[in-house]
Amino acid sequence: MDTYARFPIALQRGQGVWVWDTAGKRYLDCVAGIAVCTLGHSDRRLRRTLSRQLGQLQHVSNLYQIPEQEQLAAAITGSSCADRVFFCNSGAEANEAAIKLARKHGHQVRGIGTEPGQGPVILTAQASFHGRTLAAVTATGQPKYHQGFEPMVEGFKYFPYNDTAAFESLLEQCEAHGPRVAAVLLEPLQGEGGVHPGNRAFFERVRQLCDAKQILLIFDEVQIGVGRSGRLWGYEQLGVEPDAFTLAKGLGGGIPIGALAVKAKADLFVPGEHASTFGGNPFACRAGLTVLAELERRQLLPHVQAMGSLLQELLAGLVSRHPGKLEGVRGWGLLQGLVLRSEAPSAPELVKAAMAQGLLLVPAGPQVVRFVPPLVINRRQLRRAVALLERALLSLG
Ligand code: PLP
Repeated sequence: MDTYARFPIALQRGQGVWVWDTAGKRYLDCVAGIAVCTLGHSDRRLRRTLSRQLGQLQHVSNLYQIPEQEQLAAAITGSSCADRVFFCNSGAEANEAAIKLARKHGHQVRGIGTEPGQGPVILTAQASFHGRTLAAVTATGQPKYHQGFEPMVEGFKYFPYNDTAAFESLLEQCEAHGPRVAAVLLEPLQGEGGVHPGNRAFFERVRQLCDAKQILLIFDEVQIGVGRSGRLWGYEQLGVEPDAFTLAKGLGGGIPIGALAVKAKADLFVPGEHASTFGGNPFACRAGLTVLAELERRQLLPHVQAMGSLLQELLAGLVSRHPGKLEGVRGWGLLQGLVLRSEAPSAPELVKAAMAQGLLLVPAGPQVVRFVPPLVINRRQLRRAVALLERALLSLG
């Protein structure tokens, strides 16, 4: 169906940070399937572990115990604030699970009613992005994604991201006649909404208010999680632990997987309440296990920190050379956004010009060009990427 405005190229093979199209043209890939290909393309280890897994077992139902799933859950809980994990297949699906969990928490822990108009409310941020399924897109605080699909799911309210006063006032309003708020759902860094890092003081205050009222604080780490920020989990950048968080994208390094990770106090589902046919199958979990093991073995977290600083520095240099077109750079680690001035070429125009130069980038809104390369990118490749971007910028006059 006509769901994507696609570029007229077809990518046929990849190696590390490079991809080649069917015409043989090579591109430096700073999109990585939109923050997915953590280890780059056609990674040797991933190829080896996945082909072994294919030779052993690809899929079995969650009717049975799945050792690979247990190992991946242990790898996530052993390295995060979470105690239990539910596996699914995508970011939207992980957020759907989080939304169901939030509602159950609202009923069971906060005693919120079930009548229409009296039910649990989830607070999310404006300019957020949580996926395209009906509840996840309702959670997404961007009206353009709701248009044409009304009625939206009941029980979501929005406030401006990083705005403590606005958050406090919405919370107060929702709670004026008794408990109504089941959860607050936030990205530690807003990716699709324009690469806006979370503000520590804001997140600390949200944590404090959620604790005071037993409201679940859920983080959507679908884009920023699994090392992309330079820390394994995005919440570590803020020094604020969530009660639950969602993962997808980078966890499988290109194999579809999603996860909802929860602390013991938010471990509320009982058998029969939530499920997924494919969720957590041996193949997808082997991919997740390999990605996490390789982050550790190759010491990719300090690498992402160093490469993130270099990228930010290189982009800041670009901004200082083109102040009429570029406004600034923001982000964490290897999720950086180059902010264009409104009168400059739009982000989609610059992305297109960069593609002509052999560089793949992705917009985050009309005025931000996003860099989300494989975490294995090196210094030389980053310098090359920014040089190609500068050529693209100059080509636009
Ligand atoms: N949450 C965030 C923060 C995302 O960036 C995305 C996708 O861009 C999603 C959720 C949706 O993930 P998926 O496309 O896997 O459903």
